[in-house]
Amino acid sequence: MKKTAVFPGSFDPFTIGHEGIVRRALGLFDNIIIAVGANALKKSYYPLETRKDMIKKVFRDEPRITVDHYEGLTVDYCKKHGAHYILRGLRTAADFEFERAIGQVNRALDSGIESVFLLTTPEHTPINSTIVRDIIRSGGDASRFVPSAIKLKDYKGDED
Ligand code: ADP
Repeated sequence: MKKTAVFPGSFDPFTIGHEGIVRRALGLFDNIIIAVGANALKKSYYPLETRKDMIKKVFRDEPRITVDHYEGLTVDYCKKHGAHYILRGLRTAADFEFERAIGQVNRALDSGIESVFLLTTPEHTPINSTIVRDIIRSGGDASRFVPSAIKLKDYKGDED
């Protein structure tokens, strides 16, 4: 049976930190679904379709990776797509506490799905989407923090 992992997140926008986790996870899984959370209540900077488009550009030559979106529970999405693993990245102790709670609750919801955590590389530790958005909003150059396939100037975020 193929090993499929879901990498869920906001990816607002997708950074080289996210990319690093996905590329390393290709050595562990047969297929990875990058699933962008579509949360109607949480306002994003980049619209959902833009976030998906950016990620598709990064992995357009990688047939084992698909890009999708979902609403609702991550474990329900996994079940629907035959994925037994949830992939997440860990940068700091704060990430660990957050991920521990989500991971344990997900396991309580569905014990057939395992969360797998990869530690980020030291150079990617300080990178997060919030800081990247702040740089972009302030007119700075954030290109070094996103994969080279993503040309930030081609995309417009929500400036309110
Ligand atoms: P969420 O809103 O679900 O936290 P994010 O897009 O912020 O979505 O993050 C998705 C996943 O990627 C999380 O597991 C997060 O810890 C991980 N992640 C974010 N930035 C990095 C990074 N620089 N290095 C490694 N993992 C990261």
